Amino acid sequence: MSRTGITTVVRARLVKAALEAARASYSPYSRFPVGAALLAEGGKVYGGCNVENASYGLTLCAERVAVFKAVSEGRRTFKALAVAGGRGRAARPCGACLQVLSEFCGPDFPVILSSLDKPGKAVAVTLGELLPQAFKKTEVRRQKTVVRIKN
Ligand SMILES: [Zn+2]
Repeated sequence: MSRTGITTVVRARLVKAALEAARASYSPYSRFPVGAALLAEGGKVYGGCNVENASYGLTLCAERVAVFKAVSEGRRTFKALAVAGGRGRAARPCGACLQVLSEFCGPDFPVILSSLDKPGKAVAVTLGELLPQAFKKTEVRRQKTVVRIKN
């Protein structure tokens, strides 16, 4: 059991799934394949890979693909995420993906980071460490009146 509360067995399973997901990566422009594996409550793992586009801004990261796949199948509660990308040093999720994760996961949510070539050196961190001050849904409240902006 690591400090993030996930067992080494689960950790290894998720890293393996993230590496497998990276094989499907469509990354002809960056040549930077990334895979993600999201463990949902109940044990199902949702894989995702980065999908690039000739119109670069339409590219979607592996992490968001995994989250959107899971959410589109009715999942809302997640236990851990593994991300596999980079060589030598494990790739970190981008800010957009961390924000999407923070919609469903708290600051203690485990994120396992692995490079593509050294999965045995994967490290587990928390979502809160990667995005300490996420914009949360509690900050978006229905207003009875339009908020007037003072200038
Ligand atoms: Zn991203």
